[in-house]
Amino acid sequence: MKRLFFALWPDNATRKQIAKINQSIYSEGLRKVKPDNLHVTLVFLGNVDTELEAIIHLGMKNISVQAFSICFDQLAFWRKPRLLCLTAQQYDQQLLILVDALKKELEQYGMMMEDRAYKAHITLARKAHRLVEIEMQPITWQAQSFCLIESLSTPDGVHYQVLQRWDFK
Ligand code: ATP
Ligand code: MG
Repeated sequence: MKRLFFALWPDNATRKQIAKINQSIYSEGLRKVKPDNLHVTLVFLGNVDTELEAIIHLGMKNISVQAFSICFDQLAFWRKPRLLCLTAQQYDQQLLILVDALKKELEQYGMMMEDRAYKAHITLARKAHRLVEIEMQPITWQAQSFCLIESLSTPDGVHYQVLQRWDFK
């Protein structure tokens, strides 16, 4: 079994910009996401066996979305999951079309998808207690592709591995 999720994966320049913002944040007890792990989750799959993973890979030929960008312009504190994350005030329609298409495809394989409204975010830190005031330049994330990611537990903490990338139109 692999623990999988679909995500937008940043290019190096975007990753650096986000990591820089993350470095500028301080609050007691915060557990920051390592720069290499920064991402935007699209759909979380959880544990998937080899057979289903192969089916998922094949099904991605049905996903057809145009490239889009997202402007992450706010730091938010999400109380219940105790996260600090970057959020976007508005999304390109293509992002919502993508998330919806992925969920529909996965439902065809019998996977149960949560139907909460999608909220694009970049998790920066966990174990947060409050919002931190920061000065930030908005980050424009140019999404050219989406990725299937494996979440691996290591002695150094979780590590995310890109398994495959699919380019947008
Ligand atoms: P850990 O669980 O070890 O603290 P993590 O939460 O960073 O680490 P995963 O749980 O593997 O790692 O999650 C991978 C990605 O999927 C993260 O972006 C996480 O926020 C998201 N995620 C995890 N569980 C869910 C879920 N039930 N619904 C939606 N997104 C989820
Ligand atoms: Mg988790």
